[in-house]
This record gives sequence, structure tokens and C-alpha cells, in this order.
Amino acid sequence: LEFHFQIGFHREPVAIRRAELSVTALKEAAVAVLEKQFPQAQICLRLAQQIYLFHHHPTSDNILQVVKSPEDVREGSLIEIVLSSEFGDENMKIRPHTLSVHSYRSPAFCDYCGEMLWGIVRQGLRCDGCGQNYHKRCAYKIPNDCTLVRKRKASVSTSLQTNWNGGSTLSLQDSVASSVSSLSRNEVVSLHPSQRSSRTYSCRPLWMERSPAIRVPHTFQVHTYTRPTVCMHCKKLLKGFFKQGLQCKDCKFNCHKRCKNEVPANCPEEETKKSGNIVLANNTTLSRANKSTSRTQGHYDAVAPSTVEQNARSMDEDEQTENNMMAVESSDAPNIPLMRVVQSIKQTKKRSSTVLKDGWLIHFTNKDAMCKRHYWRLDTKSITMYRSETGANYFKEIQLSEILSTVMVSRLQPGEPLHFFKILTSGLELLVRDDTGEMSQNVIDWHTKIYQALTPVDKQQDSAVGVKRKVSVMISLTRDPEDSKATDISQIYQVFPDEVLGSGQFGIVYGGKHRKRCFDVAIKVVDKLRFQHKEESQLRTEVQILETLDHPGIVKLFNMFETPEQIFVVMEKLRGDMLEMILSSERGRLPERITKFLISQILIALRCLHKQNIVHCDLKPENVLLSSDDPFPQLKLCDFGFARIIGQKSFRRSVVGTPAYLAPEVLRKECYNRSLDMWSVGVIIYVSLSGTFPFNEDEDINQQIQNAAFMYPPNPWSEMGTDSVDLIASLLQVKKRKRPSVDKTLSHIWLQDYQCWQDLRQLEKQVGKRYLTHESDDERWENYRREHEM
Ligand code: ADP
Ligand code: MG
Repeated sequence: LEFHFQIGFHREPVAIRRAELSVTALKEAAVAVLEKQFPQAQICLRLAQQIYLFHHHPTSDNILQVVKSPEDVREGSLIEIVLSSEFGDENMKIRPHTLSVHSYRSPAFCDYCGEMLWGIVRQGLRCDGCGQNYHKRCAYKIPNDCTLVRKRKASVSTSLQTNWNGGSTLSLQDSVASSVSSLSRNEVVSLHPSQRSSRTYSCRPLWMERSPAIRVPHTFQVHTYTRPTVCMHCKKLLKGFFKQGLQCKDCKFNCHKRCKNEVPANCPEEETKKSGNIVLANNTTLSRANKSTSRTQGHYDAVAPSTVEQNARSMDEDEQTENNMMAVESSDAPNIPLMRVVQSIKQTKKRSSTVLKDGWLIHFTNKDAMCKRHYWRLDTKSITMYRSETGANYFKEIQLSEILSTVMVSRLQPGEPLHFFKILTSGLELLVRDDTGEMSQNVIDWHTKIYQALTPVDKQQDSAVGVKRKVSVMISLTRDPEDSKATDISQIYQVFPDEVLGSGQFGIVYGGKHRKRCFDVAIKVVDKLRFQHKEESQLRTEVQILETLDHPGIVKLFNMFETPEQIFVVMEKLRGDMLEMILSSERGRLPERITKFLISQILIALRCLHKQNIVHCDLKPENVLLSSDDPFPQLKLCDFGFARIIGQKSFRRSVVGTPAYLAPEVLRKECYNRSLDMWSVGVIIYVSLSGTFPFNEDEDINQQIQNAAFMYPPNPWSEMGTDSVDLIASLLQVKKRKRPSVDKTLSHIWLQDYQCWQDLRQLEKQVGKRYLTHESDDERWENYRREHEM
């Protein structure tokens, strides 16, 4: 039956099978037209019942007649769509989320729980409508209404900001959770799972339709099946020898690439149960062909870790290289560009300092008894005494890092001018009061604000009662007796909260200054409350290990402070990290010469660690610090938060490190030892030279790591000699014991390079210490130079 819908000036031709004709079907078709023609109107499919249909009856007095039954519609009819007056109601404007799997190129957070979206690809779901981002596990919990989200957006973003700065996520969770529960009390209708993705227009009241079930898409990645598997969408076999199809990494739904777009977005919440059933059903049909009756998870899949391990075990090095080559030929997906792995952010640009307090104050010093009146402005770095409220001209500036202490003056000597607080710097005592000449709230506020600025990352500030000293335990690793007397970090160092040097999974690293001796430091603040589940001692691993190390290639530790809530690790300050160097270089990757120079330094620092049975466990460019912006900078390893003490022959098993740089044994939760660091060195060489991770976008990263079948695409690898690939391939081996040690790596032909040796010698001269090369090699390189007439 062919006829036309009309709404306003728009007329749309429609065709409906006669057998399917009903008033509901007509309304559904009408909503589809509305959605198509007026997408901006946010029409919800479930509003079909709010539509009235009239058929045009030109010969009748009453031109528009209500469509009461399907018989009212004839071939060529013109049906007028009329929206009910209720439709304009603000409450009715709902719009379900349109979630799709998204790969984030920079750190992103879940708008529901506030936590990081982990991983390097397909980290979460993004709603195309409202732009919010969610973990898949959280998507099932959100109210399914974009408009609701938009209204709440402002408050959400503030909460997230607080969360990143170490604050609590409770406010956000609470607000969303409470809205969910309020919805569930009034509006959520619980649908049977089979109804979830289907469009049903029931006759329930409108308010019940307010929260249609969320449509959560599958997270597909290319998959290799080792036994016959069928597409769960079209039920046909996934053909080929490898990469036969796509598998949802969460529920293990299998399908053809071609079927992907037709698979409904209904990734089940209770993944394994449901997919297990389906798969088992499929397997039954397959078992005759396959004869394999394994009852392992592998019915629908194939490359269970153990299989990979067995494969790897039975493969010798040649076979593995061959395997790598195969991967090169077969994969068509590009490699993932190098990025700061999601759990760390980098913010080097200094924000302009914020004014914390300003106002007129009267002051004099122990050196000049004459009272002066200035407009004081306190920011996060200094106190500036301006001559006027508006001008830029100032009388004096005191850096906060110069301030040794501030004291409220409680007993005044008779005859002395009335002043209420003192600021002490090494050469000066400054006494301050305000215009009232009384101990006013303003004076107390000034004192509190200055104290807070001196201890900016300190959680225990009590602004209501002026200044309250808290007790803190301090471990001083410097021999300075003054430093070891301190009970509080702010007595020795000024932390600059605006100068964030970087942050990672444990803490935020701020710039700072030693108050008396004025040298720069980096202060890592670990918020213990954020890691309540972690054992206290684990948070202190870094300090325990750094304490024992003294090497020019390892960041120096100065002090450690601890309060009930925080740990402050004070270290030497460096310029930036290696990742920044790679990302900011002209081609987004480093030349071989610089890479060799940096990798040699990493290996030499690593040798020092391994000699002392310390395994770093989290080597990656973010944890390699550079001393300058120079193309050939000195380098130091940092971040020993995951480091472990593991003897030459022993192994550990706890989970450590950052996914993209992790070796297969850690992913498989097997034992690991120092060869774990060697794997990471292989990944670092790969990313430095190519500017991409060794993984492609399509496949499961874990599988790629566990197969160690990495590609070296011609762009850029054809530019490089085969030596670098040879070294990387030997480091990125599944078999731990086959990976070369630090010394063996250093003697690899790629690093035995005259130019590199010279670059290292040059650096040693700058640093004034020979720790990268050995004099026993001098003659060899001198001969080499002569032979090659260099
Ligand atoms: P996390 O354990 O949280 O990963 P890191 O110790 O790795 O913390 O520090 C996070 C980031 O801060 C580093 O990637 C680096 O960019 C920066 N950073 C750390 N220590 C220093 C330092 N001493 N000097 C300069 N920047 C640093
Ligand atoms: Mg780190």
C-alpha cells in the first residue's frame, strides 16, 4: 500500500505491506518520518502514542478525519501527522544515548564514575548525542537520556576536575546514582532482555517510556580462531586461516567483518553467561566437523594464552621471525600512534598565577621601622606589594620559597606599633597589620591564606582556626641537619602548585624550591587515600628503592615526608621526559643516532639496577627523564613505584607496569624477572624509531603482545638498517630466557657504533664523570677511527 504522510509543508511517500498494516504500524512509520525530517526535534521513538493521524477526505465537510482503523488508509491516501499538545512539554524531550566504541588519543575519564578510561584503543563508549564518555560497565547504569546529561554537564565536569586532582568522585557518583534511583522509583521500566534492543511501542503511560534501555555496542576486534567458528549474526562459517572474523572483547560475540554493522548494539551486561550459551549452541553444530570437544572457554575462541605459550615454546627464533614476517604481510591496519599512555598526563605550560588574596596592608621590618602601606597581592608563587590597587608598579616582591615561617603575634611589647603577624625570611622579619588596627578577621584570613600558599598541596589545612600545625613523619635523606629537624615539608620546600611537571598513576609531580638554599626540586605527591586498597608499604616502595641507589642515570632522591594522607617524595628536578622529546620532534619519532644515544644510557642505568637485583617493572618513555632540551641530553630513570627486588634466578608474580609496555608473562600473570625490563627496552626502541606502538589498531593488544608478532611496516622501517629490527625482535620474544641481558644488548651491533660512542663520550665530558663508556674500549674505537679515516 502506497500513500503519503504530511506534516506541515513536508510530504513523504511511504509503502507498507498490507499484511502488516495496523494503526500501531502506521504510527511507527510516522515517527520514522519525523525522526528523519526533524532530527533536531529530538523525537523519541517511544512517543508514537503521542501522535494523531488524520486522513484527508477532500469531498467531506470535515476534511481531516481521524484514522481509526487500517481500512481508513487507501492506496494514494494523504495522512496528516499531528503531534499531541503534550508533545511540547519539556519533560517529554528525551533522547536516548547513541553509544559507539571510541578510541581516545588523550587521557579520558568516565562521565559516570570519574575514573580513567584505560587502554590505548577502544577504551570506552562515547555518546554521539551528548558527547559523554563511559566505561562499558558504567553505561548500563546511566539514565538513558542525553538531555538529562546535558542539563547536568556543568556539575559533572567540575566533579571530574576535582577527581583528577585527587579529590573524591563521590559527588558525581552520588548525583548520577541518585538520579538513577529516582528514575527507577518513578520512571524506569524494567524490560525483559529480549525487549532491550527492540523498538516496542506499548500502551504504557508516557512516563514509563522515559527510560528506554540503553543500547550498548560490542567492542569488536579482529580475531584469529583456531577451530571452526560461526558468525553469531548470519550463522555462517568464519572462513580463512587467521583473522577470520571479529570478536567482542567483552562478551566474545563472534561475527564476520561484513556483518559488524548489522549486529544490534546489545552487548550483554552479564557477558559470559549469555555468550557462553550461544557459543555452546554453535559448537554443537560444529562438533561433528571438528571432533574437538574441549570444554574450555575456547569453544568460541581459540587463542587461549596457554595455546599461545605452547606455540611460542615450540617455535625457535627462526620460526618466530617467519611468524613476524607473516604478520607484516597479512595485516592491513595501521599501527597505533605513540601517545602518552592514558593514565598519565603532561602539563608543562605554566598557568598564570591566580590571585589568592589581595588588599591593603600596613607593614614594617626589623631593618626599617617606618610603617608602609601597600596593596598586597598573594599568588601561588609570591607576595607582591603594589603601590596602587590597579597599577603594575610595585614596591617589593617576596617569593614564597624565601619565606621560612609565618607567626601570629600574640604578645605585643608595650610601646611597639600594633602588628598582628610576622613573616620570616632568612634576612628579614616583616610585621603586618591592616587598616583597622585590630586583630580583625581580615588579618586572620591573610595569615591563613599565606600559610596555605606555603603548603599548597597539604590536605590538612584548617582555615577556620588560623594555622594549625600538624604532626608529620619525615625521612630526610640529605645530611643537612637543618632539614632533618623539620616536621613539615613546607618548612624546607616551597611547592609550586601551578607548575605541574607531570603525573602518572601514583601521583602528581610539582616543581618546587628549597627555601634556604634555593635549588630547584621536583616533588611527587602521592595521595594515600586514593590508594587505600594498596598496602601502605607498596606506596613507599619507590622511596625504599631510590634510597639505595646512587647513579648518574637514576633520579636522585632528597627527602621523603609523610602525613596520614599523603607522601611527598622530593627529588632532583629534571627538564622533561623522553616521551615529550619523541612526540615533539619534527617527524614524531627520533633519528637512529639519538635513539642509540638514549637507549645506551637507559641500558647503563638499568645495568646498575639489575646488578643490585632491582627490576624497574615500568620502563617506558614517560619514566625516562631528560636533563635538558638539548638533542643529546643526559637521561635519568625515574618512577620506581612498581620496582621489585628480584634475585638473579628468582621470579615474582604480582601485577605491575603499564599495559602497552608490558611483557606477555605479566599479561598472563606468570612469573617474571629482570627480563621484563628487557622487553620494555625493546618496545621503547620501537616507539622511539617509528613514533608508533608496535600494535595495530584492529586486533586485541593483549593478543598481539602474547603472540609477539609485531609488524615493521615499510614506512618508516625501510629507512632503517636491519640491525635495529634485529635487536628489537630479539628483545620482544615471548620466551623470557631468550631475551638478551643488559650487557648482551649493549654489545649488539646496532649499539656498537662509533658515532654513538663519541656522543656518549661528549656527554661524559659535559657531566664531568665517566660512567657511560669504559676506558678499555678507547683503543678499539681509536683504531676504528684510524681504519675508517674518520
Ligand atoms: P607516577 O608514578 O605517578 O607515574 P612519575 O614519577 O612517573 O609518577 O612522574 C610522573 C611524570 O612527572 C613523569 O612522567 C615526568 O614527566 C614527570 N616527572 C617525574 N619526576 C620528575 C622530575 N624529577 N623532574 C621533572 N619531571 C618529573
Ligand atoms: Mg610514571
